[in-house]
Amino acid sequence: MPKPQDEVLRQILTSAQLPTLPTMAVRLLELTCQEDTSLADIAGCIAQDMAFSAKILKAANSTFYSFQQQVTTVNQAVSLLGINAVRSLVLNFTFLSLGKQPENSLFKLEMFWERSLTGATAAKMLATHVPGVDPDTLFTIGLLQNIGQIIFAITAPTRYNTVLERLAAGGQDIDETELEKEALSFSHTTLGAEVVKTWGLPANITAAIRHHHDPAAYAGGDLYEQKLVNIVFLSDLVTRIFYSRDPQLHYQRLHGEADRLFGLNDQVLKNFLAIIDREITHSAHYLEVPINAVRPVAEIIQEANIRLSMLQCSYEEMHRELILAKLELEAIRSRLTEKNLMLERLVNIDGLTEIYNHRYFRTFLNSEINRSVSNRGSLSIILADIDHFKQFNDRYGHQSGDFILKELCVVAKQAIRQYDLMARYGGEEFVFVLPETSPETAMIVADRLCRTIAENDFTDGYRHFRVTISLGVASAAPKSTEFNQNEFIAMADQALYKAKHLGRNQAVLYQPPPPQTT
Ligand code: GH3
Ligand code: MG
Ligand code: MG
Repeated sequence: MPKPQDEVLRQILTSAQLPTLPTMAVRLLELTCQEDTSLADIAGCIAQDMAFSAKILKAANSTFYSFQQQVTTVNQAVSLLGINAVRSLVLNFTFLSLGKQPENSLFKLEMFWERSLTGATAAKMLATHVPGVDPDTLFTIGLLQNIGQIIFAITAPTRYNTVLERLAAGGQDIDETELEKEALSFSHTTLGAEVVKTWGLPANITAAIRHHHDPAAYAGGDLYEQKLVNIVFLSDLVTRIFYSRDPQLHYQRLHGEADRLFGLNDQVLKNFLAIIDREITHSAHYLEVPINAVRPVAEIIQEANIRLSMLQCSYEEMHRELILAKLELEAIRSRLTEKNLMLERLVNIDGLTEIYNHRYFRTFLNSEINRSVSNRGSLSIILADIDHFKQFNDRYGHQSGDFILKELCVVAKQAIRQYDLMARYGGEEFVFVLPETSPETAMIVADRLCRTIAENDFTDGYRHFRVTISLGVASAAPKSTEFNQNEFIAMADQALYKAKHLGRNQAVLYQPPPPQTT
């Protein structure tokens, strides 16, 4: 007579609701298991599925892989990515398409994707510290590790609800596998392993899913398989730091287990946890899974410590602790703001001259155009280019050239208003944006800039240099937001060209060509 647990398992595995793999995925898995499969066979198989071909091309061109060249055909993608990565991609996309919210279930689908992505990212990152394992494969196993849970929710919603209810009510961290065994006679680890086995996934993936809660129970004796089991186990602990009510507990367990299983020391783990929030966001973006903002681990642990310390306080102490806790959180927040400001600077500031870069200039100009449209005001820009700068570099060396570029920015910035923008347009060209400025005033500013630079003594302490600039000025009163930025810049560029042509060291205002008479 079959045991009751076998019977429940059989019912689930033969249930009409059990998700199945798309035909292409089944065929691909078969191909990747055969030894004589060529990359062309794999590409041929994928090419039959338009939607997946598009996904794989998108993935191959994403920053996740950062290939130098653009990948335009499935053949090219497969040969660049390799069989392992392609198989992983198929499984990732298949897994992520499993899902509508299961009916009649308390299962939180969005949270499930988030947790799965966290596990996947952690497994992939940990894999880079373990010799002989493939990070892509671990990403996939990490992603699939809790597939049993969603299958419980789909195929046995009512009974699984009792597990979910008890988990939600549990004040402390309960091992969900025990609750699952009570309610359904086996755990999501067993179910997940059995389901992916019916899908034809390799035995080592099945083993890793089966034992990821209890790696000591793995008795397969295969060293490689044991490594997979251990990594997925660790990735589960990482996930618990993010999602359980007692993050410190899992944080400490992670440190202990990572050291015991792979000899990963505290510094390695610290570095790993410091960037995992960004990596998870990155994975979500790449797999197009919408997720909530991921909090940095340091902040999660800090907050948990504060909560813990408050639990042990008397009422008066609590009041004091609250103030301290608030101060501490404010400090974290201001450090984060500082970090964000620094990142923003890096994105918008030119490395050599430390003034705004071309990218920021474009954004600024765009918003000024919009402002002029609504104010019905005029807006001017000036393009400035150093005269004969190539000769200067040839004569005094590139370093002196760099010195001039930096110094010129300092001097020029003193000659404009506070709300005018100066940016490095590129090379030895600079651009100024003058909001609410008429052509006449813009010309006054340009002439002043020209004179200031020509008269400036550029000295690095022991040598004295002179340089001049030529400037092109364009002015406009944009009537609609359709106003073309590029045309506006081209006008200033034409005027600059004329200034060069007229002998340099001067400013020229753009004049529209006279209307053609016929
Ligand atoms: P023109 O008066 O017609 O503008 O002559 P030019 O020599 O200034 O113009 P050209 O466009 O022929 O050369 C620009 C020079 O600017 C060439 C390049 O070496 C120099 N340059 C561009 N960027 C930098 C930089 O970051 N540092 C230094 N030192 N030189 C630069
Ligand atoms: Mg020049
Ligand atoms: Mg130039």
